[in-house]
Amino acid sequence: MLEITGLHKSFGQAQVLRGVDLSVRRGGVTCVIGPSGSGKSTLLRCVNHLEKVDAGRIEVDGELIGYRESGGRLHELGDRAIARQRARIGMVFQQFNLFGHLTVLQNLVEAPVGVLGLSKEDAMVRAREKLRRVGLADRENAYPRQLSGGQQQRIAIARALAMEPKLLLFDEPTSALDPELVGEVLAVLRDLAEAGHTMVVVTHEIGFAREAADEVVFLDRGEVVESGPPSQVLDRPAEPRTREFLHRTH
Ligand code: ADP
Ligand code: MG
Repeated sequence: MLEITGLHKSFGQAQVLRGVDLSVRRGGVTCVIGPSGSGKSTLLRCVNHLEKVDAGRIEVDGELIGYRESGGRLHELGDRAIARQRARIGMVFQQFNLFGHLTVLQNLVEAPVGVLGLSKEDAMVRAREKLRRVGLADRENAYPRQLSGGQQQRIAIARALAMEPKLLLFDEPTSALDPELVGEVLAVLRDLAEAGHTMVVVTHEIGFAREAADEVVFLDRGEVVESGPPSQVLDRPAEPRTREFLHRTH
């Protein structure tokens, strides 16, 4: 579902991603761990073409992201084609980024109507289904500020689901939450993983990665240092840099 090969990205002189390869099969759950500044957010942003890559390829469900190939050359896609690709990739951020002036239900209906062209009625049916999924069916008329951080993040997840994306990207979805609210969001992520969603989760929650991931990728200084099943990368890391990171943080 996701195939990244030879991804390079610099900001000025700073080489932030230095030849990253990563692939996630359909229904796979990959957790990306690594120190602050190692390039985790940049990696996710490249998948969504929020950043232009310097070299390398990103394919989602067989489709090259951001470019059209012809005559052996790459041509950047236009805004509409990029928007169409982005609509199939859900992204959930550390800061939930809900629309504060809209109710929960309106937050979930907006993009399916505006971007996918669903009727208001169909979008509302879908929105309510996704609210049930995250356990917040009874809050559809609330405004974001009336909800806890954990509830707001669950709404942000439901909003991503309302687009029925092929791929879900999570960038430290629990890092902004008070500790007692982390569990309810991880429970939703676990449920989505079990339901067969294809997910890439950047996280510092090693316990979650151990249970929910089928692959863990350790990124350090823009390189994949080590990747594999959690039982290998987290419990018997082969690389000294991975061991050092896990000791330092946990
Ligand atoms: P992580 O998510 O692993 O903490 P990031 O991908 O956010 O790391 O950042 C990796 C490096 O790239 C950092 O040194 C950061 O300062 C730099 N960086 C990220 N985005 C930009 C940008 N838009 N312009 C310049 N530097 C950036
Ligand atoms: Mg980050």
